[in-house]
Order: sequence, then C-alpha cells, then structure tokens
Amino acid sequence: MKNNEIEIIDGDEREYRETINLKKKMREMINDKKIIQTINHKFEIIDSALLTNDYNLFWKKQIITGGFRQWRKKVTDAIWKNELLNSEKLNDLFMYNFKKEFDWQSTLEFISNRINFTQRQCNEKDTRERSYRIKNLCKELPTYEILFRRDVNKIDNPFCRRCDKKEEETWEHMWICEDNEFKIEEIAQESIYRYEKWLEENDRNDEVKILRKFNFDFIRIIEQPSIILLGKNRIWEIVRGVYNNNFNKLSNLKEEKALIKNLWNFLYEELKNRIWIPRCDEVKRIEEKEGIMKSDLKKKRKENEEKTKEEKEKNKKIRKTQEKSDKINKNNKNISIVSSDVKQAQRNNYRWT
Ligand SMILES: [Zn+2]
Repeated sequence: MKNNEIEIIDGDEREYRETINLKKKMREMINDKKIIQTINHKFEIIDSALLTNDYNLFWKKQIITGGFRQWRKKVTDAIWKNELLNSEKLNDLFMYNFKKEFDWQSTLEFISNRINFTQRQCNEKDTRERSYRIKNLCKELPTYEILFRRDVNKIDNPFCRRCDKKEEETWEHMWICEDNEFKIEEIAQESIYRYEKWLEENDRNDEVKILRKFNFDFIRIIEQPSIILLGKNRIWEIVRGVYNNNFNKLSNLKEEKALIKNLWNFLYEELKNRIWIPRCDEVKRIEEKEGIMKSDLKKKRKENEEKTKEEKEKNKKIRKTQEKSDKINKNNKNISIVSSDVKQAQRNNYRWT
C-alpha cells in the first residue's frame, strides 16, 4: 500500500453520515429546475459521424460538408475552364500566347460571368448570358453557316438571310453584315458617351471623372491592330470577349482598373444588344414569313428523312454501339456532360428573345 501512495483512513460514523447527506443534497440540486437551467450542455454535431444520414452529400464516401453550392460552382468552373482552354476553337487566340497580349484571368472571369454591373442575376439569365459568351468566344453562335453545318432541319444553305450577297453567314459576317444598323466601330465610339450617361444617371460621379481621364486611351487601344487576330483591330478582341492586357497597363489604381473593365464590359454588351439581338429578331421574322417554326430548328435535317422502319432499326443499333463507347469513355465523363449541357443550351437558347 505504501508503494502505491494510498492511505487507509478509518472512517467513523460521523464522516459516513456526512457523505450520505452530501449525496442527498446533490440529488436535490439536480432535481431543482432552477439549478438545471443554469447548466449549459455543450455539444457539437460531427458531420462525419452522420454517415447514414440521407441529407448529406458524398463523394467517394467522403462527406461534403456545407457550402455545397459553392463547391459545385468551383467544380463547374474548373470544367468550363478546362473545356475552354483546351478547345480547338480557341487555337487562334493562343497562337501567339507567348506575347502575353491577353489577360486570361479577367477573360475567364468575364466569360464565367463574374464581372457584371449587377452582382446577383437570376439564374436563367446568368446561364443564358454565359452560354452566349462561350459560344461567341468559340465563334459558335447559331448563325446560318453553323446551323447548316449541324444539319439543322429546314436550313438548306449557309447563306446570310439578311443581305442578298450570297455570302455565308459566318460568325464574322454576322458582325459586319451590311444589314446591321450599326458598325462595330460606331458602337465603340458611342459606348463611351452612353456609358458616361449611364454613370451620371446613377450618380456615380467619381467614376465619370475616371472615365473622362481614360476614354481617349481606351479608344486608342481598340483602334490599334490586334497582334493576335491578324488583319483586325483590337475591337475584334472585345467582340470576341478576350481582355487585352494593355487595358491593365493604363493604371495601377484599383478603382481606375475596375472602371476600365466596366467600360469594356459595357461595350461588349452594347455590341451584343445592337448587332446580335437585332440580327436574331430579323432572322426570326424572315423565318416566320417562310413558315419555319422554332421547333423545326431544333430537329436535325437527317431525322426527317429517316422514315422507314429499316432505318429506325439501324439507328437503334448505332445508338447501342454509341452507348457502349460512351461507357468506355468514362474518364471524359464530366467533360462530356458539360458538352451535352452546352449543346442542350444551344438548342434551347438558340434565340435570345
Ligand atoms: Zn449578311
């Protein structure tokens, strides 16, 4: 006992009674509501302990705690980024990338719709806008040349419907078609004044001052020839949606940089609203006159031609082999899901009205 440092005490009757009394008092205290109310229970929920709970999201058996939307957004952004940067359709923009002409960070932020006048837009509008920006960047807006190439029903030639020049309505033609009410250079010039007016109407006078300080520099930059898009001036970079690094060099001040970006954004929107949207309205009017319905434009030309049972059978077989190869392509699953989303969006939002 000595080794264990335990002392043996002879307890007498009095001590024994005292302990019994203390126990009683303790019990009374615990039963007393007023005292109970002063007791704080500290406990926390450990998310990973709730593995069987239906309301949690898992990825490879790991629980995804909170901020799910944020997390999903990041994943989507990463997929978009990957799709965009690896797209062959952007090869022309990367051709002279070593010259560091473009600010890709700002370009991607813009394309993914993170810079805007209104911070929170409703989801549908946001998706549409992003879809437009991506298609425009890839020169894949649904012009007649693109629709014809995709075998869209009732589109039997790639020519521009608005001018009688028998020219293919390519992405470029759409922007310079003589049927356009405004030229892109005109829109650029006017945008400076329109943006100034907009700022004034919204009592953003400090920004008006900054705008006046940089408006000539802005115009000077966009009138210079593009080093990347050969044979065009830099306004075509804005038409396309790529942010030139020279805009960043205009100022080191945060507010000034932000205003230049906003002006750029304003011009981009103006180009869309004054050329692309009127173009869509006009083509829609022409198509309606000719009895082409929107539903026709969702179908493929070939689908209409396949009427016999035999062909349907063949299609089934093709589809099955397609499904098999899809399974093999599991690695590319995420990317292809996004692509199909884009295609879906292209079909759904082929009009911007
Ligand atoms: Zn035309």
